[in-house]
Amino acid sequence: MRALMFVAPGQLRFDEVDDPTIVDPTDALVRPLAATTCDLDHHVIAGKTPFTGFGPFPLGHECVGTVVEVGPDCTRYRVGDVVGVAWHIACGTCARCAAGLPARCLLHRDAQYGLPVNGAWGGTFSELIRVPYADYNLAPLPAGADPVHLASIGDNLALGWETTMPRIQGVDEPRIGVFGGTGSIGLYVTDVAVHCAKAQTVYYDDDPARMAVAERLGAEVRDIDGRIARDFHVAVDASCDPEKLRKALLSVVPEGWVNSVGIYFQDVELPLLALYQRGVNFHNGKGMARPNMTPVLRHVADGTLHPELVTSGVYDWDQLPEVLTSPDAGHKPVFTLAPPA
Ligand SMILES: [Zn+2]
Ligand SMILES: [Zn+2]
Repeated sequence: MRALMFVAPGQLRFDEVDDPTIVDPTDALVRPLAATTCDLDHHVIAGKTPFTGFGPFPLGHECVGTVVEVGPDCTRYRVGDVVGVAWHIACGTCARCAAGLPARCLLHRDAQYGLPVNGAWGGTFSELIRVPYADYNLAPLPAGADPVHLASIGDNLALGWETTMPRIQGVDEPRIGVFGGTGSIGLYVTDVAVHCAKAQTVYYDDDPARMAVAERLGAEVRDIDGRIARDFHVAVDASCDPEKLRKALLSVVPEGWVNSVGIYFQDVELPLLALYQRGVNFHNGKGMARPNMTPVLRHVADGTLHPELVTSGVYDWDQLPEVLTSPDAGHKPVFTLAPPA
């Protein structure tokens, strides 16, 4: 099969590699129908992450696809099912997985698709992927849903739910601030904030294309360099910019919540005294994906969520290296592959 490889900053190529096979009886093999970039991938390709010197490795950790083979102990899925794939490798049964923290699985730690950490698990920009513990790590797509705009369900799209919904329970008339910048995550967060949390939602950014999407999603859109409100119950930092993180941290009500999903690769100075005086609950960590995929899929199926507005372009699979190394890659390019014969 062909696998898209990260070679070096700005260099991607397709390699011919062996097809993955069923290794454990709980495995399934999935052929992507649509795959897309996690916002992190753009930084990987640009050489802005610690993975720069590790190429070549297979890239990509967001896709939906068709089940083409199942092991004897994969009982929930059958060949032909269309599924979303969680970005990380999790057993689904250890203490942390059982606690709803599969990205902290005790068996597989940081293992994931598309980056060389804790084993070689392939990438979702490959024509076939092996999914361990498939009963746990796959999620069925709703009947009739367009898989193209669900390509991100196993990561960035699910983060929209994870970063907001648990934090607004019991809050009357919630207000949510979204600090965009990484690409798609802030927009998926905005969709959930407006339409599921029913929050008064303010989206801050400096990119006209993303700001236009946030406006269509129903947010009040403001320039990140203007005045920032200070009364959000929840703020989500999806900026990957220390100055914007600082703004997000200082934007919440006393004892409010700030969730940072823009990844920082260097130490960042934080206004800790101001945070102490205000009382800020700050979470910075990986998305758990699987527990959040189900409610998001349900709300896409009933028309509450609009991931199609976040997709910035739909391309043929063969265009992967060219589009992803172009300055015009867009904030959420989706690549489609023909269904299995
Ligand atoms: Zn990711
Ligand atoms: Zn586990």
